[in-house]
Amino acid sequence: MRFWITWVFRQIEEWILPYDCVICLNISDQKRDICQTCQKQLPYLLYACIQCANSLPDQNSLNQQCGRCIKNTPYYDRTIVGFTYTTPIHAWIKQFKFHKKGIYANILCQIYAEKLIAYYQLYPENKPQRLISVPLHWRRLISRGYNQTDTIARYLSKALNIPMINSRHIKRVKFTLPQAQLSRKKRHHNVLGAFKVKKRIPIQHIAIVDDIFTTGNTVNELAKELKKAGISTVSIFALARATRSCTV
Ligand SMILES: [Zn+2]
Ligand SMILES: [Zn+2]
Repeated sequence: MRFWITWVFRQIEEWILPYDCVICLNISDQKRDICQTCQKQLPYLLYACIQCANSLPDQNSLNQQCGRCIKNTPYYDRTIVGFTYTTPIHAWIKQFKFHKKGIYANILCQIYAEKLIAYYQLYPENKPQRLISVPLHWRRLISRGYNQTDTIARYLSKALNIPMINSRHIKRVKFTLPQAQLSRKKRHHNVLGAFKVKKRIPIQHIAIVDDIFTTGNTVNELAKELKKAGISTVSIFALARATRSCTV
């Protein structure tokens, strides 16, 4: 009954207040705040390393590792990202992360979830059993007021029908400087020992959800701890990837 009431109200709301496209500002031709034409022009990451999602030159490089992953294999096994971290994604994630603009989170999550759903329809055997968002240290949580990756993880959990793991099991025990303020070299040391998994996790495959994948040091450190806790496969889900061209 409650479902039907919500549904009826949503239909009325959409009829009275249609969605406006956040890019061209016209009325959207779909039930989201972006029109189909603008959505098609977003900077999708199409060809990327299967393990770290570093951009690769062309279609022939699909399902391959990049040179860096072959040379220095990370703890995580697979990374799937939605977009390259360029305009307008760059600004949208900032609006969402620092100003809590949920409208951008909705658009990004909706489109990204569609990509993941399509992927797991093709490769159901690769689907993780649980999701976890990258935990924030309590001091950062207090200063920011919320964990933006939790919002993304909750959305994806619902859309993909993958339960989230209880966040009490995994803690960020070290207060680290924001990675964006550090050189690539210092980022690795900054996050060393940052996470603690409190007990053994009896599942095979987990996906870590993050907003932006830059060097991958943070998720790699968390993946290392998850593997110590007994997990055999770790996937990374990130809305966007800061790219640097790399050949196989
Ligand atoms: Zn538009
Ligand atoms: Zn790679």
